[in-house]
This record gives sequence, structure tokens and C-alpha cells, in this order.
Amino acid sequence: MTRPYLGNPKDTIEVLHKYNFVFQKRFGQNFLIDPHVLEKIILSANITKDDFVLEIGPGIGTMTQYLAEAAREVTAVEIDHTLIPILRDTLKDWDNVIIINDDILKVDIKKLVMEKNDGKPVKVVANLPYYITTPIIMTLFEKKLPVDSITVMVQKEVADRMQVGPGTKDYGALSLAVQYYAKPEIVAYVPPNCFIPRPKVGSAVIRLERYDKPPVSVKNESLMFKIIRASFNQRRKTLLNSLNNSSEINYTKEEILQALNKCGIPSNIRGEALTLEQFADIADEFENLKSQI
Ligand code: SAM
Repeated sequence: MTRPYLGNPKDTIEVLHKYNFVFQKRFGQNFLIDPHVLEKIILSANITKDDFVLEIGPGIGTMTQYLAEAAREVTAVEIDHTLIPILRDTLKDWDNVIIINDDILKVDIKKLVMEKNDGKPVKVVANLPYYITTPIIMTLFEKKLPVDSITVMVQKEVADRMQVGPGTKDYGALSLAVQYYAKPEIVAYVPPNCFIPRPKVGSAVIRLERYDKPPVSVKNESLMFKIIRASFNQRRKTLLNSLNNSSEINYTKEEILQALNKCGIPSNIRGEALTLEQFADIADEFENLKSQI
């Protein structure tokens, strides 16, 4: 079998020229040209010959070649139809790869996993298009799709945001959402010269290992995320005012105050100082209030 041969500047440029490929900025196309980074991604994704891997945005098939070598089967979803003939060419030596030409946010991933992996959790690996990093990750988590781990290249700042805790400037709704569903670990920082064309920002590979059970228990998950969103929508306001001003939270100021008091949380605190556990406590107190009404 052919070994992966893309992932270096020479072969990548050759493929791009052969097909007169025109980069589409709107699709966030920055192709990897560094074999060390590719090997690091495959290694940290912990892929074995038992695994079914879902790749998002294969581009010209650079990482797909590495994934096809390491995994049992790969399905790669690419939105740009001009890349499909290129992928057919660059992946012709691997018989365990399927290419789907679609928007990943429109693909029925649950159905795909049922068909391809008997519904067992899959590994997601991608050099993500940066313009939709958050919607992709949140879809994978919130829709409770059968995912074992997500190993992705993202913008460095976004990786930092996913990993930090309370009291830091990067801490926000994304940190809390990711940390509710998964254990994040940044495995590499990747400079712009590892891509063609070079992105304007630094990048990082982050591995999100999904928890079997979230680290905090909460009666109403969706209410907790409403509280989190409300707290960070108005970052500079106190928690009491943020919750009171939010159209998503339908409690009076007195009720909010009562819930915060019960949790032992000062009303003049800002959301950015609260842990995931404290947000879960507030949500549970709101639920208790509801049952008293
Ligand atoms: N995996 C390749 C690599 O590492 O060289 C390409 C990565 S590039 C950063 C992102 C890829 O995602 C591009 O090929 C782009 O066309 C594709 N893409 C962008 N939006 C997408 C979407 N909504 N669904 C599927 N693929 C998408």
C-alpha cells in the first residue's frame, strides 16, 4: 500500500497545480504541509485499526491519508465540490475511505455512525475550518452524538478558551460547555508556516476526551447553559444583573437573589468567577423555585 505522501510543501503544491485548485477563503482552507504535525495529531488521537474515524474537511486528503493508514475506516466530509475529484485521486490507493460532499452541519452523523460503526462511539479528527469551529464542536456534544474523542486543529485562542478555568480573561461559555462534556488537553501549538496558505493566526491541536458522565450533575442541563450564556453575554455586569436582564431567564430579581443566597454565591460576583459546579448549583436552585410555584 502507498504510504502517506502529502503533508509536505512539494507534493501538496504539485497536487494543487495539477488541478489548478483555487483556495476558497470562505471555507477556511489552510492545508497542512508539515509531516511532524500530522504524525502528532494521529498519535494524540490514539487511533487503532479497530477505529472508525470521522474527518471533517479533508481538503486535498492530506490528513486523510494518515488516518486511512491508522484506522479501520474513515469517512471524510468535505463541503467544497471542487476538492472531490482531487480527493478521489489522492486517496485512490486506500480502500477504507469514503468521501461525502456535504456541509458537516447538515450531515446526519447519528445515522452515519449507526451504519458505519454499529452506533459505537467514533473518533473525530480534523484540521477544522476556523470560521465554524464552535458550531461544529457544540453540535457534536449537544446533540449527544456518539463520539469518543475529538482531536482537532483550531485557532490557538480558541484552544486556550476551551481549556482555561474561572478568573481568566479567556474563560467563558465555550470553556464551560467543553468542560462539561469533555476533558480538554492541548497537545501542540502549531505556527502559521505549517500551512498553505499561511493563516493570520497561530493554531493549536486540542484533544477533547468525552466523559462517560459529566463531572457535575444538574437537574436541567439546558437551563444551566442558559444561565451560563446570560452570565457571559454581559461579562462586565454582576451575575444578578446579567441574569435579571436576560430574555432567556424568566425569574424575578428577588427569585434570582434567593437562589444565589441559597447557593452561598454573592450577588455582586461576575459570571467569570464561577465554576461549572456553581453554575450547576444555581440551575438546580432555579429548578427548586419552579417546583415551589
Ligand atoms: N484537512 C485538510 C488539511 O489538514 O490540510 C484541510 C483543512 S482546512 C483548514 C478545512 C477544510 O474544511 C477545507 O477543505 C474546507 O473546504 C472544509 N470545510 C469548510 N467548511 C466545511 C463544512 N461546513 N463542512 C465540511 N467541510 C468544510
